[in-house]
Amino acid sequence: MRRTGILIGAVWTLCLAVVGAQAPASEVDSHVAAARAAAGQDYRATFVNLCIPATAPGGGRGAAGRGGGAPATPDRSGWYASPYKVFDNLYWLGTRQHSSWALRTSGGIIIIDTNFAWATQPEIIDGLTTLGLDPREIEYVLISHAHGDHDQGAAELQSRYGAKVVMGAADWDSTLKRPPTAAGGVPKRDIAVGPEGTTITLGDTTVTVVSTPGHTPGTLSYVFPVKDQGRTVMVAYSGGTLTGAFGTDAARWDEYAGSQRKIAKVAADAGATVILSNHSEYDAAYTKARLVPLKREAGENHPFVVGGDGVQRYFTVMAECALASKLRLGAK
Ligand SMILES: [Zn+2]
Repeated sequence: MRRTGILIGAVWTLCLAVVGAQAPASEVDSHVAAARAAAGQDYRATFVNLCIPATAPGGGRGAAGRGGGAPATPDRSGWYASPYKVFDNLYWLGTRQHSSWALRTSGGIIIIDTNFAWATQPEIIDGLTTLGLDPREIEYVLISHAHGDHDQGAAELQSRYGAKVVMGAADWDSTLKRPPTAAGGVPKRDIAVGPEGTTITLGDTTVTVVSTPGHTPGTLSYVFPVKDQGRTVMVAYSGGTLTGAFGTDAARWDEYAGSQRKIAKVAADAGATVILSNHSEYDAAYTKARLVPLKREAGENHPFVVGGDGVQRYFTVMAECALASKLRLGAK
């Protein structure tokens, strides 16, 4: 951990130097400055990945984890993480890198994002069992976007437990074009969410599903309630992050930035004070999940509660970095 912290600190200092070296008063700089201010100490990785141009030739960030992905299981010592209960009714079932979540309701379980196919059994199915939950109670699988690091478990949960798979309509289109041999298989089309969004209600819990195209054409983000020691806390879930492949497509940058403003408003209107993602890199889920069981002092927040301002700042980083990148690339 400590070595990682020093490394992140060094990268951060370097990045600040890179940003600082740009011509002052340019429009790019003002967007980067707005993103940097919004990121503060909390969202460094999101800022670095979105605002700092990749240096490798042709090496835009964001190509990792595309549909299909590597079917081989990597060495477990590099990714396995124990499952954790993080709120009264929300459970983290991630690897150290990617998150999958279980939202327990009075009517069954909603899984939010899966993971690579090789993680379905050890992290999701065994994870639920370890936490005293029954995977046969999975009723819905919400997929934020159709990339292999988040959706390869969907087909197995659908076929084994009869779970209904929810995905953006445009991402269903790309998913259904995969060959049957794709890692994890291909889920059958269930619930396709259009630009207008939808709500998914199971038992006592409703998830507001917001269409936030950008990272992929069908990316979905969510707002939903959880309980913290009996008190309702609203969660905003960011469904897709990287922008590495946008190039000079101005409409795509604008769509992405607009989507962040859209989900930020839904989150603000709902009073969201928690920001979640599907990568621990962005929301520190793996670190925070392990902090949850520790003693909380009087007045100390739940580790995942960042406040309404903290949620808004996260989406500001995303939107401002997109606007900076669009201008930097001369997108028209
Ligand atoms: Zn992705």
